[in-house]
Amino acid sequence: MKDFRIKTLICHVFHVLTHHRLQIDLLNLNNSIGYGSIGSILVKPIHAKKSFGQNFLQDSNICRKIVDFARIGESDTVIEIGPGTGQLTDAILQTGATVYGVEIDTDLIPQLKDRFAAPANPVGARFHLVEADVLELDWNLLIPKKHSPRDVNDSSQQKQIKLLGNLPYNIATRILTRMAEERIGFQSFTFMVQKEVADRILAAPGSKDYGYLTLVLAHRFRREKGFDVAPGAFRPRPKVISHVMQISPYVEPQEEIDYPFFLRLIQTAFRHRRKTLWNNLTGLGIEPDLLRQAFESLRIAPKARAEEISLEVYRSLTRVLSFTP
Ligand code: SAM
Repeated sequence: MKDFRIKTLICHVFHVLTHHRLQIDLLNLNNSIGYGSIGSILVKPIHAKKSFGQNFLQDSNICRKIVDFARIGESDTVIEIGPGTGQLTDAILQTGATVYGVEIDTDLIPQLKDRFAAPANPVGARFHLVEADVLELDWNLLIPKKHSPRDVNDSSQQKQIKLLGNLPYNIATRILTRMAEERIGFQSFTFMVQKEVADRILAAPGSKDYGYLTLVLAHRFRREKGFDVAPGAFRPRPKVISHVMQISPYVEPQEEIDYPFFLRLIQTAFRHRRKTLWNNLTGLGIEPDLLRQAFESLRIAPKARAEEISLEVYRSLTRVLSFTP
């Protein structure tokens, strides 16, 4: 009996050591962030893919801080962009919210399903996995009927959906501009991006960071600065500091402008940053006399640069030049 206990103990110690060693080996592989699992069986290591902008959060305190900052509660429906290995997903689910995770990487799907959607898992009913590219996603199909009276742009819908994501850095600005340009409805969008991108979103007129991204988002959203996250919170470690921030659509009604023209105007205004605003805007193909009158009536200096002009003045320019009453 004693021999048996000793043997069992030795086996156990051996198992712990080899298992631990296996984990360390996997973590030491280039870009490997651990191993996947199906039930209790370990499967192939998960390699972070650069092509999908994968830097996985390892720090559960940071995950909780993000969820707190997003003000997520039990009654919320959250769309998480890129759940990855599920650290942030776990923190969202702990609030009692319902989560729709949109993930492009099919290699991560089995692990996510196993972790959150297994029938025995009490959070299973609140977790839905959508295998899709967020840039191609039909938002109307994503939101289930009970949350979506007609479409996602419906204002009652906007009150219910919160978006959240540690965004893949390589396509973060494309995701954000798509949200704004296509006017996808939601209550708030809390996201992590490279600090340099957050600086561009939060920039004030006159700063070198101020540009198309600032204006396209500022036109529709209130922008809220959040907090920095150091590279050590991720695996693999990114080379840059990250920032968590939030955008939310203005609650008060906004005066309508010719939106496609506004987008063309701000794109053209910043096309060549060294040129004056006037020189850039001649690219719009507008009669010079008309452009001159608009500059005079809005008191824009002839030598002004695009980054010196406020959102309000760009909106006014849109009204004047697109003939929107
Ligand atoms: N949320 C996880 C975390 O915080 O650890 C992962 C964040 S990682 C920076 C970005 C995630 O977005 C990855 O899981 C990646 O596979 C996913 N992703 C990248 N491009 C995507 C796309 N076009 N559509 C949906 N998910 C995408």
